[in-house]
Amino acid sequence: MKSSRIFEDMDLRNKPSIDAGRLWERHRDLARIGATAGGGVNRQALSPEDGAARNLVLRWSAERGYEAQLDPIGNLFVRRRGIREELSAVMTGSHLDTQPTGGNYDGVYGVLCGLEAMEALDDAGVSTERSIELVVWMNEEGSRFRPTTMGSAVSAGQLQLAEMLRVRDRAGVTVEKALAEHLALLPRLEHRALGTRGYAYVEAHIEQGPVLENAGMRIGIVEAIQGLYAYEVEVTGFEAHAGTTPNRGRRDALIAAMSLIENLRQLLVDEEDQVRFTVGRLEVLPGSPNTVPGKVLFSIDLRHPDEKRLKRMDERILAACEGTVEGCVIRCRQVLASGPVHFDQGVLKILQHATRSRGEHFLRMVSGATHDAKYVAANTPSAMLFIPCAGGISHNEQESITQADAGIGAQILCDVLLDLAIQAEAGQSNSPRSRVPAD
Ligand SMILES: [Zn+2]
Repeated sequence: MKSSRIFEDMDLRNKPSIDAGRLWERHRDLARIGATAGGGVNRQALSPEDGAARNLVLRWSAERGYEAQLDPIGNLFVRRRGIREELSAVMTGSHLDTQPTGGNYDGVYGVLCGLEAMEALDDAGVSTERSIELVVWMNEEGSRFRPTTMGSAVSAGQLQLAEMLRVRDRAGVTVEKALAEHLALLPRLEHRALGTRGYAYVEAHIEQGPVLENAGMRIGIVEAIQGLYAYEVEVTGFEAHAGTTPNRGRRDALIAAMSLIENLRQLLVDEEDQVRFTVGRLEVLPGSPNTVPGKVLFSIDLRHPDEKRLKRMDERILAACEGTVEGCVIRCRQVLASGPVHFDQGVLKILQHATRSRGEHFLRMVSGATHDAKYVAANTPSAMLFIPCAGGISHNEQESITQADAGIGAQILCDVLLDLAIQAEAGQSNSPRSRVPAD
């Protein structure tokens, strides 16, 4: 194979081209594994279907001679060797697990784009200095085993392996047992230690929201993942007979909770419509039609891209949830404070440059949803690329994308991975920041 150095100044006509038809076929092949009557897939983490999907990707990889490894939490690494094995690898990837009524593109798209990019380099006879690694993260969805993004969070050291192996699904099966069953389905794979660090990580994903489609754009360059704070609120009133207790004497926990939630909603309204405030769970106790509710428990999910704003809203929430409302005692507990993650400026510039080089416009975006890249970014310069999905519909069997959008996203990912993987000049900083194109 030729040295890849020449590609630094290559013009577009000579750049490796992805095969959009092959990429589309592979989506069709994976959609058959765990297919549901509604046109989607049910391929939850470490299920036999998840194993079958990984096996198929491993078969395609083996046909190309790529090597595969598995780490102790079940993240799968597929490696296209570079000339200089001692250099850290350029990474890409996403997940193959789905929601119980999931679509055919969430996660799958990023995995197949990465594979397509590697194959396109093979087809063009291009070798790179750095290896390129495709990662299939374990349990991104968190529908069978909580929490979400388990594999990438354990890999980044942000969740503990031993603790996660003990997590059980609804049937009482632990992650440890499910992993052992999963291993039995896969071909023998080399062991990989936890704690992967790469030279850079770029994840392609469907947007899962309507912003790109509404803007008529095909490419979103994701600069950050917004922060998420979560709370549990307890409202304590007094249970009483629904027929005999006059309004004036009541301490109705539901009336208090309604008033409190409405008050919070008003407090957190913002002109820019960036605050995401959701009460998704509300439990009324004792839950009897003829008893005045004595207790209400509800959740708050609060998201925003700006950490300062999140902290200010946090103070407001805690202040509003102090003392009593409608004679009921309010208690609020923060259960999660995960700040926003800002992606690497160097990798973002390379993404922007590659997108422009293909004559595409892009939208700079903040991801509303969490992705594996959020954790990878803790140790590896990272960024994400979005393509639109019809109506912004995701986590739904109707999830849909076009072959053309899929193709252009994969092409840009391929260009970016190549650009990153040819960077290995001796004496230069071992970080993508050093080769940011001037623009
Ligand atoms: Zn996903």
